[in-house]
Amino acid sequence: MSRYPPTLVRLIGELVRLPGIGPKSAQRLMFHLLNVSKDEALALAQAIIDLKDRTRWCTVCYNISEEDRCNICVDPGRDGSLLCVVEEANDLWAIEKTGSFKGSYHVLGGSLSPLDGRGPEQLTAKALLQRLEEEGVKEVILATNPNVEGEATAMYLSRLLKPLAVRVTRIARGLPVGGDLEYADEVTLSKALEGRREV
Ligand code: ZN
Repeated sequence: MSRYPPTLVRLIGELVRLPGIGPKSAQRLMFHLLNVSKDEALALAQAIIDLKDRTRWCTVCYNISEEDRCNICVDPGRDGSLLCVVEEANDLWAIEKTGSFKGSYHVLGGSLSPLDGRGPEQLTAKALLQRLEEEGVKEVILATNPNVEGEATAMYLSRLLKPLAVRVTRIARGLPVGGDLEYADEVTLSKALEGRREV
């Protein structure tokens, strides 16, 4: 890479830090940017600047927002008694895409992971407790990821919320729609059995 002029090396160095971008992809992107018009390249640079300048955490739910409160929190059509707790804002958007949830959200800002030094104080759990008191929430849905950290986080939150007069539920785990039982792994299959319900 040292055969490139320093400006090119610098851009490759920045690009390679992006998730999913290896040295080869970084070089390809760099040459692409080198070949496009200055306007096109600057549009990308400006979009990144605006992203950092104009977005912030919603002061209520910690979703990403351009205002103090995000578009979900200001929507009077949302059911404030139903609160869905997710790890990250992209989990919130994944649920929003289904169009089937009309409650409100709370973004934790990650999951508990003692090995990575992420404890409860790194999450927005304190703000969550405060919201439950203030907003008349009746049910909290724990929609953290179905992995070790996500399960530990759901367990921690369920203990934290137990003394409060609020229903705490966990999203069901199970088989993907269109899947085949014989191809499911044992954990997924046993979780699907555990999560069975009346038909
Ligand atoms: Zn919000």
